[in-house]
Amino acid sequence: MTDQHLAKSLAGKTALVTGGTRGIGAAIARRLAAEGANVAISYAASSAKSEEIVHELEGLGVRAAAFKADQADAKQVTKLVQDVAAKFGGLDILVNNAGVFTMGTAGDSTADIVALDRQLAVNIGGVVAAVREAAKIIGQNGRIITIGSNGAERMPFPGSAEYAGSKAALSAFGRGWSRDLGPKGVTVNTVQPGPIATDMNPDTGNFADMLKGMSALRRYGKPEEVASLVAFLASPSASYITGATITIDGGVSA
Ligand code: NDP
Repeated sequence: MTDQHLAKSLAGKTALVTGGTRGIGAAIARRLAAEGANVAISYAASSAKSEEIVHELEGLGVRAAAFKADQADAKQVTKLVQDVAAKFGGLDILVNNAGVFTMGTAGDSTADIVALDRQLAVNIGGVVAAVREAAKIIGQNGRIITIGSNGAERMPFPGSAEYAGSKAALSAFGRGWSRDLGPKGVTVNTVQPGPIATDMNPDTGNFADMLKGMSALRRYGKPEEVASLVAFLASPSASYITGATITIDGGVSA
C-alpha cells in the first residue's frame, strides 16, 4: 500500500495525541493532520512549542488545539479527553503517546523513587485514565493506539526494569480493552518502537552505539516512521487489526 492510497483517509475524524509537542507525538500529530484529521495535542511543559505545532497543523488545513494536562494526574487526563470531545464535537482516534523514561537500578539507595513513581503514573496511569474516559465518548469504529516500547519484551541493559514494566503493562491493557470495545467496532492496538531519535533517546546519546549495533538496519528510526504505522492503524484499512502489539524497531528484536 502506498501513502497515496491512505491520502486523506482520516478526513472528518478527530484525534487526540497525548504528548504531541515533540518527538514521536509531534510526528504522529502532523501525519494524522496530513491524512485529514482534526488534531488535539496535549503537553506537560512545552507551552510555546505546543502553539507552534498547532499553527503547523492548521497550515495543513485541519482544526487543531493544544491542551496542558499532566498525564501523571488522572483528573487532568479525564478533563483533557472531555475538553477535546467538547471542542471538536466528539473523538474518533486516541493516541496514547506521552511517556517518560526514568532509570533506577533495583537496590540502588540513591535511585530517585519519586521520579520512578511518577514514571509509573505517567506511563501506565495516564493511559488508563485516558482510555477509561475515551471509551465512554469514542465513536463507532474508533481507534485507540498506545505507544509502548520494544523494551517491554527485551531489556538489554540494567536500570530500566521499571520503564520496561510500565510499557509491558500497556499491551496487556490493550488486549483487554480490545475485548471490551470490539462490539462497538473500536480497535485497540499497541505500537512498540525501538530506538527512535528524539529528545528522550538522541541518536548521539549514551546508548546510541549499542542500540544501533543491535538493529538489523544498523540505525535509529525516525519519528515519522512510527507515525506511518500509527496512521495506518488509525485508517479504515486497518479495520480488522485489534488487540495486537506491533513492534517497529528496525530489527532490534529480530
Ligand atoms: P520525548 O521525550 O521526545 O517527548 C515526550 C512528549 O510527551 C512531549 O510532548 C512531552 O510534553 C510529553 N509528556 C511527557 N511527560 C508528560 C506528562 N506528564 N504529561 C503530558 N505530556 C507529557 O519522547 P519520545 O517522542 O521519544 O517518546 C514518545 C513515546 O514513545 C513515549 O511513550 C516513549 O516512552 C515511547 N518510546 C520512545 C522511544 C524512543 O526511542 N524515543 C522508544 C520506545 C518507546 P512536553 O514537551 O510538555 O514535556
